[in-house]
Amino acid sequence: MKSSITRALLFLLILSLTGCAADGSFDTQKALSVGGGVYQATTLSEQSVKQTATLAAVELDKQTPVASKTNPYAVRLRKMTQNIQQYDGLTLNFKVYLADDVNAFAMADGTVRVYSGILDAMPDDQVFAVIGHEIGHVKLKHSYKQMRENILANTAFQAAAAVNGTVASLTSSQIGQIGKAAVQAHFSQSDELEADHYAVNMLSSLKKDPHAMKRAIETLEQLHGAGGGFLSSHPSNPKRIEQIEKDIADLR
Ligand SMILES: [Zn+2]
Repeated sequence: MKSSITRALLFLLILSLTGCAADGSFDTQKALSVGGGVYQATTLSEQSVKQTATLAAVELDKQTPVASKTNPYAVRLRKMTQNIQQYDGLTLNFKVYLADDVNAFAMADGTVRVYSGILDAMPDDQVFAVIGHEIGHVKLKHSYKQMRENILANTAFQAAAAVNGTVASLTSSQIGQIGKAAVQAHFSQSDELEADHYAVNMLSSLKKDPHAMKRAIETLEQLHGAGGGFLSSHPSNPKRIEQIEKDIADLR
């Protein structure tokens, strides 16, 4: 009994470590070599990826209700983020999605979306830490790399690229799919730890309590258990919290 549980856990571990590659949908090498030639990987510029992110945000904003400017959630987020509309060389744009998901995400162009579910679940300092973590994924180009791979693996893009097309050839529903993948993106263990590290430094540089990053993870753990919540991924929560404490100690 015990060994079958161990095997099942090992299988899950392998599955989680291989991430998106497990279902074969993320084979960038294959995406790059259609027709025997390598193309577009070099010509798919960072600018094109960012433009795709902006278009994806337009599609995503149509799919989930966006809080109006006077909505209390939007007012609360605006107060929280008024000093970081421009931050660390990034131009950020924030909106609230009116949905119960305890979630937030960011994209390569500086789009940041915060669900009302997370605003209900956390006090401002923890939500701000989560936002810092998401900005970390943008600044450290994790979001860019994720979307770039996703575009290159997109069969419609491959077809367009084969005739010298670009991301501009993609339809709005294809762009919407790429956006959806960004919302559901899972990053590697090191990316998550780097984003936590970024958030700790950001909180500290803005004279906010960096421990809020730790508390945000603890809140998610209370809601979803040790493995749950959108911030969870390959590093276990104890490992992340330990790393965050080290990062905070290094601030001094
Ligand atoms: Zn993350």
